This record gives sequence, C-alpha cells and structure tokens, in this order.
Amino acid sequence: MRAKPKPQSRRRCMIAAAVSICMAVSSGASFPLPAAEADSAAFRAGAAKVEIKTPLGMPIVGNWDSPPATNIHDELYVRCLLLDDGHTRIAFAICDNVGIPREVFDAARKLIDAETDVDAKNVLMSATHTHSGVSARDFRMVDGAQILSAYQQLVARRIADAVATAEQRLQPAQIGWGSAAVPSEVHNRRWYVDDEKLLSNPFGGVDQVRMNPPRGNDALVKPAGPTDPEVSFISVQTRDGQPLALLANYSLHYVGGVPTGDISADYFAAFSERIGGLLGVADADSDFVGIMTNGTSGDINNIPFREKNLPPKKAYERIDEVSKLVAEEVASASRSVAYHNQISLAAANAELKLAMRKPDPEMLRYFASLAGAEGDSASTHRFAKIYASRVSRLQEGPDEVSILLQAFRIGDLGVMSIPFEVFAETGLDLKKRSPFDDSFTIELANGSYGYLPTPAQHKLGGYETWMGTNRVQLDASEKISDVLLSLSKQIQSP
Ligand SMILES: [Zn+2]
Repeated sequence: MRAKPKPQSRRRCMIAAAVSICMAVSSGASFPLPAAEADSAAFRAGAAKVEIKTPLGMPIVGNWDSPPATNIHDELYVRCLLLDDGHTRIAFAICDNVGIPREVFDAARKLIDAETDVDAKNVLMSATHTHSGVSARDFRMVDGAQILSAYQQLVARRIADAVATAEQRLQPAQIGWGSAAVPSEVHNRRWYVDDEKLLSNPFGGVDQVRMNPPRGNDALVKPAGPTDPEVSFISVQTRDGQPLALLANYSLHYVGGVPTGDISADYFAAFSERIGGLLGVADADSDFVGIMTNGTSGDINNIPFREKNLPPKKAYERIDEVSKLVAEEVASASRSVAYHNQISLAAANAELKLAMRKPDPEMLRYFASLAGAEGDSASTHRFAKIYASRVSRLQEGPDEVSILLQAFRIGDLGVMSIPFEVFAETGLDLKKRSPFDDSFTIELANGSYGYLPTPAQHKLGGYETWMGTNRVQLDASEKISDVLLSLSKQIQSP
C-alpha cells in the first residue's frame, strides 16, 4: 500500500440539484489548475492489458441458456488507458464481460484508491458486453448477506491491476482524437412488423415493435429507431510518434458467431488486437494497447434484417470481418489526427437516484392466473414464466437505486458514462447536445442495470422495454442525459 497524498489537484465542488420526488442528485467534480499552470505540466499516458484468467466450467452468459465454458478461444482482459496532464489523472478500465454489477466496480475502486496514485472517482470502468464470457453478476450469500463471489473478486482485482500497471507505464506522450464512420455493421434490431403473431409479449399483451424479428421476413416494415455509425477514437503516441494506445467507441451490441462453450471477447478483442498493426506497431511484444468500448448499442446489433439469403458463416468469421473493417476505418481516420502534448483533463461525477419499476395489480393478476392454470396454454408467451419470476423479484426488491454517472474532458473532447444498455438515439442526442465539439458515451460503465429505452420507445413496447428486462422509471434516459449534460457543462472550460 502506498502513502497519500496524491499528486493531482483535487479541488471539488459539491452541487445540490433541485430534484423530483423519485430522484436526488449530488455531484463532485475535480477541476484542473488554471491553463497557465497546466501548460507548464507535461502530458503523460500509460496503457496496460491484464488477463482476467477466467476459469473453465462457469456458465457463459448473454443468451437465454447458459452452457458451461469448455474452451478458451481468446482470453478475457481488462484493458486500461491512463491519462495525466500533470494535475489530474483520468483512466478507462474496460473489461471483457457482458455486464458487471456496481459492487464489483466499487471493490475495484477501493483497491485503486489504496494502491495507486489515481483518484478512483476519475476511473471509468465498463464491460464490453461480450456475450461469450462468464458471469460476474452472481454474488455469494453468506449468513443471509451478499458478498462478492470468487470471480467477482478476481475481476475487481484485475481492474485495479490494470490501472496500477498503466500507472507504472506513464510516460511523456501526445494525444489526439477523431472518428470514422462504419454504417454497414450497425442495424437497429427493433422493428415495426405487420404480423401480430410476432408482437405478443409475456404480459398477455401485444407490442408495436419486435426485437430481432426473423431476418428476411415479409412482415418487416421499418426499424423503430436510428443507428449511430460513428466510431470515435482517442489515439495516444510517444513523443516521437510511436503508437502507445488507441481507445475506440462504436455503438454495436456485439457480433457473435462463437461456438457453444467457447470463451471469447468477441469483436471487441479482435479489434483491439488488430488496430496496433494497422497503426504501424511492428513488434508483437510491444506494450501498445488497443481498446474497444461499447457505445450506445442497447437496440443495435450486427444482423442485416432485410437480407433474405445470406451464406452461412463459419465460427468467428463475422467477428473477423467486422473487426477488420472497423480497425481499417479507424486506422485510416487516425492519419489525419492532430496530436497535442499539452492538454488539460477534467472529470466530474454524480449519483442519481432512480425509482425501480413495480408491477401493477393487473399484471400480478395475469401472472397469478397463469400459475393457477394447468400446463401452458398455446396462447401463453414462451417467456411468460421467466417474466413472472423477474417481475416478482422487482416487486420484492428495493424501491430505488442510486447510479453513478461520469463526465470527462480530454482537451475539448467529452466522454460520458452510463451504467445501462443505452439506445442509439440517446447516444446521438447526447452527442448533439454535448457542450463539446466531439463527444461519445460509454455504456455499461460503473454498473449494469439492464436496458435503458427512451420514454418514446417504452410506448412501443418490445423486449428491451419489458418489465424485468428494463427495471427503472420510464423516463430514466431523460434524467440521466440531463445530469450528464450538466456535468459536462461544469467541466467544459479549462
Ligand atoms: Zn446483450
């Protein structure tokens, strides 16, 4: 354990916000020193990737069934980029996992505060959302109390190790940012369809839109929302122009095409491993670290729904194709990036309380009627039992949840974090309303609370809006965006 105090300035302001009955906000921001002082400090960066060393035998999560892991195709990692302007340090620690509870990230934060000179509040920790990793969601119960499982402790440990390793590698650096567009690999997965059979829901009702309708189906009318084709990236080099790290952000849920039982970090890892070579990193043993973060992809996947006849793909073939295309576009766009060796960094965060959704008497009566019925009737939705149990967990669970939101400034680039699977339209709206010229959002950061449809998408129904898949108040996306934009404005000026 290392002695404090930490080197960076930690002036903070506490801001009380006027709030509605079901929401309370407190926020803390750390501001850099005035520009004249900051300019005298050298910008440094460090990057690291550390293996999580995931054991076989645990269930692979991300789909309706959870087969045990029987083979490691590619190891799961935490990849970290740490930036230091001489006064403020911020870090991104990105984990290959489908979604990590806040308690695990909080445990990592404690280790980081104890063992490094990085203020853990300024660390954005997120899950990539690979659907072929094992669960970090399952707690251990001891004497009725919830404690972290061995795997959860391992993930927290490795997040802290990644930050500590990146800290040891801090060196004078230069940084730039930019974006490419890859529209071909993102498809909105929520569709209006003109076949009512495709629209039933587990609550005995009929939705207006269908998640993942059958590809090439004649009933497809139009997607229910937009896509965000932008691949944003931050590129970091040594002072003499050698690539150190590249962190990208694309709003694509995952790619898939992974055989049953395989552990794989999906295209997130394939991109991260490929981008260095395209940037000119010749040495495979180099410390260069590529990182792909998940943008706002709650309603976006890689399935071209209009296509009727697509040739079957081999395992990992699509992951290979998508990672290659995205990496080539990013590498090409990175050639016109302007690099800076003096920038200022800032970070702000806020807690936001959200009300949990609760079933109404009508829904409870519906599920009670199913429980009393003999067997499953043909008209009962195939997921009715699953949702009866999810809804009952919500009913018995807490009335509200407090989530952590973060905003960062890197020069005049803004980065925001949200602990949900966020819809593309929310990400696009944040990019439009952000006070920064360029900005992007990393989802599934600092927690994992399910899908975050907008109020308009809630009205359309569909899987992501179902109570139990979505768990918080219906206007949560708007409350979250308001807080993130307010945090961004707090840190807008150096
Ligand atoms: Zn998913």
